[in-house]
Amino acid sequence: MEQALTQILKEQCQKSIQEASDQEIYAALLCIVKDKMKGMKRNEGSKKLYYISAEFLIGKLLSNNLINLGVFEETRQVLKKYGHDLTAVEEVELEPSLGNGGLGRLAACFLDSIATLGLPGDGVGLNYHDGLFRQTFVDHKQKEEPNPWITKQSWLTKTDCHFEVPFGDFTLTSTMYDIDVPGYKNGSNRLHLFDVDTVDEGIIQDGIDFDKTDIKRNLTLFLYPDDRDENGHLLRIYQQYFMVSNAAQLILKEAEERGCDLYRLHEHVAIQINDTHPTMVIPELIRLLTQKKGFNMDTAIDVVRKTCAYTNHTILAEALEKWPVSYLEKVVPQLMPIIRELDARVRKDFHDERVYIIDQSDRVHMAHIDIHYGYAVNGVAALHTEILKQSELKPFYDLYPEKFNNKTNGITFRRWLMHCNPKLAEYLKELVGETYLEDASALEKLLDYQDDQEVLQNLRAIKKDAKKELKSYLLQTQGVEIDENSVFDIQIKRLHEYKRQQMNALYAIYKYKEIKKGKLPKRPLTMIFGAKAAPAYTIAKDIIHLILCLQELVEKDPQVNKYLKIVMVENYNVTKAEKLIPACDISEQISLASKEASGTGNMKFMLNGAVTLGTEDGANVEIHQLVGDDNIYIFGEKSKKVIELYDTSGYCSADIYNSDPMIEELVDFIISKELIRIGDPVNLGRLYKEIVSKDWFMTLLDLKDYIQKKEQVLEDYEDEKAWEQKMLVNIAKAGFFSSDRTIAEYNRDIWHL
Ligand SMILES: *Cc1c(COP(=O)(O)O)cnc(C)c1O
Repeated sequence: MEQALTQILKEQCQKSIQEASDQEIYAALLCIVKDKMKGMKRNEGSKKLYYISAEFLIGKLLSNNLINLGVFEETRQVLKKYGHDLTAVEEVELEPSLGNGGLGRLAACFLDSIATLGLPGDGVGLNYHDGLFRQTFVDHKQKEEPNPWITKQSWLTKTDCHFEVPFGDFTLTSTMYDIDVPGYKNGSNRLHLFDVDTVDEGIIQDGIDFDKTDIKRNLTLFLYPDDRDENGHLLRIYQQYFMVSNAAQLILKEAEERGCDLYRLHEHVAIQINDTHPTMVIPELIRLLTQKKGFNMDTAIDVVRKTCAYTNHTILAEALEKWPVSYLEKVVPQLMPIIRELDARVRKDFHDERVYIIDQSDRVHMAHIDIHYGYAVNGVAALHTEILKQSELKPFYDLYPEKFNNKTNGITFRRWLMHCNPKLAEYLKELVGETYLEDASALEKLLDYQDDQEVLQNLRAIKKDAKKELKSYLLQTQGVEIDENSVFDIQIKRLHEYKRQQMNALYAIYKYKEIKKGKLPKRPLTMIFGAKAAPAYTIAKDIIHLILCLQELVEKDPQVNKYLKIVMVENYNVTKAEKLIPACDISEQISLASKEASGTGNMKFMLNGAVTLGTEDGANVEIHQLVGDDNIYIFGEKSKKVIELYDTSGYCSADIYNSDPMIEELVDFIISKELIRIGDPVNLGRLYKEIVSKDWFMTLLDLKDYIQKKEQVLEDYEDEKAWEQKMLVNIAKAGFFSSDRTIAEYNRDIWHL
């Protein structure tokens, strides 16, 4: 590494390692690593996977590529020898913002594990130039800004692979860009990101506004553009079709190049459809096979059905895509006859409106295409899959029980332990041996040290170091100072009412009032939030506003600020997550039971020794089973009860508000004169009204139980040894949540690579 770095720096800027700037070192390392990856062995086999996803939230790549190539430590030492710090060099890299949250991050963890397990499998997605917006806070409100991340030198490699993608009124020529995905101590795969050369950042106006109808210039500008209006919806369909038409053409081209018989495509290719965004790959493949490859309709449908598998990520109705026929007729008229044919076949076989593809209001249910015309349907945590089978997708489960299966999500330990928490990773190596990085179940050996005072104290010391590092990071980046001796209570995830950041904010109000009353906590509490709200999601933005107002209220109150600190981290993304997670004591996973399909943040925290405060939702249920009652704090109504409340319209927030003076007091504080003085009465008033009169995600249902449980956690935190043991058990049991395990299961049950 030293030699390569010296030489590249000499060529690029005539400097020695010592003289070079962090920027120059980053550029040199980028070249070296890209070159190394080019020379790597590719994962190969007779069957290949294509993981199609509208999002790949890959995070910065330098360190992770160095880790997977096995040269991280060597590189760090070389830099250190010449007075450089790899962490500082990493700061130069811009984070690709190719995803929203969990779904996109999952796709990224999966690519890492697929390569690490030596399986041939590429990702296929879009090369959004500005990705998801960058979030800033202005006047206690979220402001969205473009987030350009593609610089002249980047991890992208432009290929000479192009396809023609026909839309209703014009045709675009694509360009494929590749990012290498090296496996940890194994061969590599690729992430293919499609783009059009005509995209033009110049059309972005104020904030993230742009002409939504100018498809040639806007197609790959942003991820999930604001879809408040019809033009926003149409743009999404343009993006989705562009993605899957390229994917389908690439798949057929590569299959033919490998000499595959297309009539046996399913023996050579598996396609994983990540949520419904890539669903049009099904009719598109059928179109290509029938119109370009001489297949008859029956055979084309049969082959495609044996090739495609679908992952469901949510039961929230708003997220199950249903496109009006008229939109599809405009954007992709060539697909509509095929979609109609697929629907006609369903209607012929089944006389049940609930499973039709095109409904009475002429909307196309994308998930229904996936389920009828794919061979596997999976949920992403045990509870989620049960809910799909028993309620949400029950009519389909009754038709095709054999298609349904569960694949509990996972995370890659290379990024979420080795990279983000090297001290802990190193210490675990000492205790349980190096194998845990490839066989995560080996972490359970840690349980042997449950009563080892030295080990327990070392775990605490590592946590303390991480807290200090977070402290200096937040001071540098946001100018806020936190106390490393306080309890770090962290809720970081997309902002959504079902995730219930508003419930956590109500706890902050509770704590504020307690302190004002003179009930002082034994130890200061630092409540950290990080969340972006979708630009069109009004109430989510109001919740951010409330948190930012509370942050200021507490900060400016000398009576309170010694005991309570609220910090909302700006622009929450993978990079921020990597700094926050190792430092966490209490992991907030407080979604309304039945609504969080899995969660993966919960797994990252557990692996890094945080204790979960959560509901019986998503993968929290499995965490609970693994660590036992003593090592997790569970509260709130169970999913069965919640589903019943929805079915019977049995929940009324006003009843709870009116019958419980404490809850009334906390909710009223949202529109108190203290907060109105800081914030905007329109936003605060709207949020107040929403909670009292609607509260669709049942904040008030669990509020009291939540407050009591959180007080219990804070009390238990003071028993040092007991807390250290909880940390240890959480780390020891986190092995199950390695995405290597998840991917091994996908391969065993679905892909058969
Ligand atoms: C892991 C992760 C998520 C998902 O978090 P959940 O708590 O599971 O919703 C979202 N965003 C980023 C940046 C992540 O790293």
